[in-house]
Amino acid sequence: MTEKGARILYIEDDHASRRLVERVLTSRGYEVLVATEGLEGINLAREQKPQLILMDINLPNMDGREITTRLRSLPNFSNVPIVALTANISAGSRELALAAGCTGFMTKPIDVATFPADVERFLQGKQDKLTADERNEHLEKHAQNLVESLEKKVRELRAVNKRLLELDSLKSDFIVLVSHELRTPLTLVSGYSHLLAEQVANKNGLVQAQSIAGIAEGLQSGVARMQDVINEIISVVRISSGTLDLSLGPVRLTKVVHDVQKTYGDICRKRNLTLDIGDFSELPLIQGDGRRIQSAVEHVVGNAVKYTPDGGRISLSGHYVLDKAIDIIVQDTGIGIPLEEQRHIFEQFYTLGAIQHHSTSKSAFQGGGLGLGLAIAKGIVEAHNGRIWVESERRDPQALPGSTFHILLPLSPSDEVPDL
Ligand code: ADP
Repeated sequence: MTEKGARILYIEDDHASRRLVERVLTSRGYEVLVATEGLEGINLAREQKPQLILMDINLPNMDGREITTRLRSLPNFSNVPIVALTANISAGSRELALAAGCTGFMTKPIDVATFPADVERFLQGKQDKLTADERNEHLEKHAQNLVESLEKKVRELRAVNKRLLELDSLKSDFIVLVSHELRTPLTLVSGYSHLLAEQVANKNGLVQAQSIAGIAEGLQSGVARMQDVINEIISVVRISSGTLDLSLGPVRLTKVVHDVQKTYGDICRKRNLTLDIGDFSELPLIQGDGRRIQSAVEHVVGNAVKYTPDGGRISLSGHYVLDKAIDIIVQDTGIGIPLEEQRHIFEQFYTLGAIQHHSTSKSAFQGGGLGLGLAIAKGIVEAHNGRIWVESERRDPQALPGSTFHILLPLSPSDEVPDL
């Protein structure tokens, strides 16, 4: 009389319900397979040919009634009992499930004492029935639901497709920009190497040491810029693929800001920018990847330098907040950032939308960039469980409202940062 040992497939997205049903049925000797959504369930059903299917109704992507209708259309599934198991007991939900092709209808939460016997009855051939009128009425409703759901899917696919096309075009623009960014230093390197060759040829090999030193400096600056571009691309790829590895250790922020000052000292002097560095010596050590934290701060300070006209001021200060985190603040007296752009500037390639900022003669100080700097800074800060954000009133290249960036880092990546 018993079908013990029967193979049952349970399609259910809720972990707790899955565990309970699986445990109850397995303890009675049934073999239980589980799937968390429709397509996985259909594939499993095709492969494993269960003798009964328990079907949750409210599932993501494809609901239980849609899955049932699809299963009924497959060879070998016209007679397999499919029992709806749902928390939805609103009027008509039973009839709708049966009209869609379910054999029976049971409600959640299950009664552990009676559930196995109820399942067994469906295995033995029990079938819940609808009257002809009920069936017609609910079949029509089910057909309407199917069409609506299809319409929704088409809309979703269209939106995703549009986004993919946008990304694809951003990537093409990005390739153009990268080529351009690499070509500039490459031209420099090529120019200096020709110069060297010419000098050697003209002077029978007797080139002045001073002249060689100048050429070497030019070559080095071209190569360094190419290295920067390549490193930025590698960092952003690591961040997007979640493979940015941190080598953690104690980080002294005085050292970090000292190195940042070294990087930008010369350019600030040349452009008459004041680089004002606060006192970081009293701040506690933090646990983190010093090299990467430096790179994040460098990207933010680099932007402050880039978007502040000659003669402006950039200040860098650190504050210990609520005994939990360090807030590194980078403030500039530059062109500012429009409110509506403030969230987007941390996205990859964002600069492409504002490509005109790269080359207008009025704003030559703004320099170029790949639009990756802030995305990299954000990736690094978030890998440390920190937060980065900007405050600025508006963009105004004449009035220069300035921008203030915050990099909030917890004392250790395992700590939470406080809400500021
Ligand atoms: P980019 O390579 O273009 O500098 P980033 O990711 O570093 O790329 O910055 C994205 C955009 O954010 C910049 O193109 C610029 O429009 C804006 N931005 C970043 N920092 C500042 C700043 N300090 N002042 C004004 N605008 C800024």
